[in-house]
Amino acid sequence: MTQRLAYLDDTFLLSHESVIADSGGDEHGDYIIVEDCIFYPQGGGQPWDTGELSVQGKVHSVDAVRFAEGSARIYSRGATDLAVGSSLTQLVDRKRRLVNSTSHTMGHLVANVVETLYPNYVARKGYHFPEGSYVEFSGEMPESNAKFLDKLNEKIAESLSQNLRISTKQVSLSELQQICSNVPTGLPVDKPLRVVQIGNYDAIPCGGTHLNSLSADIEVAVTKIKRKKPNIRVSYQEK
Ligand SMILES: [Zn+2]
Repeated sequence: MTQRLAYLDDTFLLSHESVIADSGGDEHGDYIIVEDCIFYPQGGGQPWDTGELSVQGKVHSVDAVRFAEGSARIYSRGATDLAVGSSLTQLVDRKRRLVNSTSHTMGHLVANVVETLYPNYVARKGYHFPEGSYVEFSGEMPESNAKFLDKLNEKIAESLSQNLRISTKQVSLSELQQICSNVPTGLPVDKPLRVVQIGNYDAIPCGGTHLNSLSADIEVAVTKIKRKKPNIRVSYQEK
């Protein structure tokens, strides 16, 4: 079975019917695999979605979602009692998805802004959970941390106020290498490859969920920069 990861196509598809394609258990608990999955499995610095499954009139809560062996596994207590082949309705917790998607999108914006203003910095990794979010770059510490942060915040605010559109596209590896100037090593081999692009900033390979556009309503700022060997870490948070 090839599972469709429906969250890749639409961040705001939060209710969706599908069919249970498989079920099982592993060290994290009992899980099901659905044909069309709208739940985001944790990864790429973004937490998993929570929510509910409605199967034959009974509601089951989603405890966790993880990607393993080529599929998103939806963990729910007693999931293995659900019959393979049953129809179900998936319902993603909207608030959590929105918070996580916003924080994740802001991580890309921080990376784009830093790389644009300081081309000797290259984004290496990100942690986009709403608490303690950061992006790490290879490069040297700036001469003045305060000036560096001020300059970034000015550019971030400018981009937000321009309501830049955010687009995503599924690509082959060779297309990805053509589009992205910074292709990280260790791209997943068992997931579709996709790039996300904010306005005309550099496209970034990413399988997470993002907003559809920036907005001046989002209040986010970079708050500190520190050495975190071998990288420098730029922390950001929503106000
Ligand atoms: Zn992303």
